[in-house]
Amino acid sequence: MPAQAVQPPGELDPQVAQLEPETQSLDPVAADASTVFARDDIVVRDPLESALMSEGERAALQAVADSEPGGSYYGGRPAFPATWSMMETDYVQTPFPQVTQLPISSGFGYRSGGFHGGTDIPLAPGQEIRPVANGVVSAVWQGDNPGGGGYAVFVDHNIDGQFVQSWYPHMQAGSIRVEVGQVVDISTVLGGVGSTGRSTGPHLHLEMKNSDYVSFDPLRWLQTRETRLEVG
Ligand SMILES: [Zn+2]
Repeated sequence: MPAQAVQPPGELDPQVAQLEPETQSLDPVAADASTVFARDDIVVRDPLESALMSEGERAALQAVADSEPGGSYYGGRPAFPATWSMMETDYVQTPFPQVTQLPISSGFGYRSGGFHGGTDIPLAPGQEIRPVANGVVSAVWQGDNPGGGGYAVFVDHNIDGQFVQSWYPHMQAGSIRVEVGQVVDISTVLGGVGSTGRSTGPHLHLEMKNSDYVSFDPLRWLQTRETRLEVG
């Protein structure tokens, strides 16, 4: 009886409501367009599914990025602003969505030796690293930077309209699969875990910056937004 089920009881047609079960007929209400299911009433929004881009969607956004003059940029604003403005998302994940329990060797915050601006996640060399959300690659280091980051990828995100940048340093040499200006989604592999730069063992130092270009606790932030995250 879907035709009745969509109506709150108070709005049932009295004639229909009074029918005995064995004499019920949908005929009287079937002609009333207001009693049919709208498509939006039965579509359940899957946030993961909606965050994944179709080929066409990605190509359209990439065309915008390719037309922008942006290049590597480090600061609290997007390197590719037009593309960034079109990529608002609310879906975030850890860089290792396939790993259910993330080991942490050093957390965000003060430690002996100074302030640690990210969270260290030790995983096997080559473990695939994905972006924490859809975004645009704003910088790539091929092991040639003085800061100790080794091979690194930086991605700009538009999270509910807010600028967020994520860093993925210490990647395995030669593992980086993206370039500056590339549109990425949550399924894109950026590269693999390594120990390049100032690092004592294979790990990802996940660091995230806000629009003031201040680092904030990445896993705490992800934990409050992402339901599948389990930190071990
Ligand atoms: Zn670190």
